[in-house]
Amino acid sequence: MTVLADLEEFVRDHRQHGQMTGDATEPEWNGYRLTVACACGVVFERWVAPADADADLVRWRSAPVMSLSGRPVPLCGPAWH
Ligand SMILES: [Zn+2]
Repeated sequence: MTVLADLEEFVRDHRQHGQMTGDATEPEWNGYRLTVACACGVVFERWVAPADADADLVRWRSAPVMSLSGRPVPLCGPAWH
C-alpha cells in the first residue's frame, strides 16, 4: 500500500463524518510527517519518504482543497495558512 492509497481509503471511510483537517511537518531530507484528523477523532498519520511524495501528495500538502476519488474534501490546517 502506498501512502496515497492509505490516505484515499481513510478519506473514503471518514469523509461522511465531517470536515478533515490536514497538516504536515516541514520536509526534511528523509521526508515529512503527514497527519489528517477526521471530525470523529480518528487521525491518519504517515511518514512520507521523498520517494513516496509523488505529485498527488505534493498537491495534498500544498493545496487548501484536495480532490480524492473525484470528490473535493475541504481541508484547513497550519500548513496552509
Ligand atoms: Zn471519521
